[in-house]
Amino acid sequence: MIIVAATQNRNKIKEIRAITEPFGFKILPRDEAGIPHFEIVEDGTTFEENSLKKAMEIHKVCGLPTIADDSGIMADALDGAPGVHSARFAGAEGNDDNNNEKLLQLLSGVPMEKRTGKFVSVITLIFSPDDVIVARGECRGHILYSTAGENGFGYDPLFAPDGYDKSFGQLPKEVKNSISHRAMALKALQEQLTERG
Ligand code: IMP
Repeated sequence: MIIVAATQNRNKIKEIRAITEPFGFKILPRDEAGIPHFEIVEDGTTFEENSLKKAMEIHKVCGLPTIADDSGIMADALDGAPGVHSARFAGAEGNDDNNNEKLLQLLSGVPMEKRTGKFVSVITLIFSPDDVIVARGECRGHILYSTAGENGFGYDPLFAPDGYDKSFGQLPKEVKNSISHRAMALKALQEQLTERG
């Protein structure tokens, strides 16, 4: 099944592909589907709202099944921040180094036992405006005292998932893709697709 990805984030697309290929999905990034670039303003207050908005705007343009992911990191000690603001936490969109630096500053002095948090991913798959599947996944862990590792993207070098003493930046991508928030959301999506038959 061909599914257009609303995201242009190559890292997310790689992960979505790695996880959905075994289910027979062929993920086509929106530019490769011939959709001209336009900005989608992510002004929702929840991952669900933003994920639905991204998927719906792209679906309206292409009319094909469309998948969108809205995701971010939530620190318990910061009442869930950065949350839906993860991508632009330090200002400009997608400046991973600055975002990580800001998160570290806000958590400075916070001991490890209180540096708990989670990654959240909400995946929306739209077949038609009346046929929408929403799936949420979470991955709990700790936010480290400093960045570690070069793998992944975004906040990966700062986040050690529960059960591991290494960050997502250090762990092999196969490990991340088996336990991550996005993997959990895609698993929930797959379960819903299976139920539909
Ligand atoms: P979105 O593209 O609006 O969903 O923004 C998601 C932002 O959350 C990204 O820019 C990253 O900063 C962060 N994020 C989401 N998923 C991950 C992940 O798997 N690893 C690291 N950072 C992530």
